[in-house]
Amino acid sequence: MVEGALADLGLALTEAKAVLAKLQEIMVQSQTAEYAACHRVCPHCRVPQPVKDRRTRRLQTLFGTEEVEAPRFRVCQCRPLAPVVAAVSSPVCRLLTARGTPELERVQAELGARTSFQKAARILKTLAPASPGNHESVRTRTHAAALRLEAADRQAMAAVVASDTPRRRRAGRLSCSTAPMCARCRVTKCGNLR
Ligand SMILES: [Zn+2]
Repeated sequence: MVEGALADLGLALTEAKAVLAKLQEIMVQSQTAEYAACHRVCPHCRVPQPVKDRRTRRLQTLFGTEEVEAPRFRVCQCRPLAPVVAAVSSPVCRLLTARGTPELERVQAELGARTSFQKAARILKTLAPASPGNHESVRTRTHAAALRLEAADRQAMAAVVASDTPRRRRAGRLSCSTAPMCARCRVTKCGNLR
């Protein structure tokens, strides 16, 4: 750079978002294609299973919504007497167990817990080529994260109570709080009760 200004140094936010989005697209498509190719091979006779058809799936990530190929393979006939669970298998569909990546869900839930869902969606849209950039998605994922935390808390509490019941009976009380907490407090762990 022979001439220019301070603002011209480095990547601008819009350029960085475009680079990230393209990089993510290439990575996700390459990884899912490799995953499908590896799982096409029959684990018993090592022969590639025939392709039945080619479908596509969409995956929401922190850096954009990606469309990936999800080929379906006919299950190998090398074991005709073995119980057939399914005549057709789609490894990529099995891999994509949710509409969004765990990282996108975590970031949406964390932002949604700390500010309004609308503001959280705007922050994400400003800083990352995230998808989808609407507050409904942030709200849904914040509540989902809160439910998961609540279930984990209940499980941990049940384990503590089960292992410690005789002593606590003698003490005559349980110290664990069972009061409900709001979704935001669950995620941020601020401890405010509903
Ligand atoms: Zn086989």
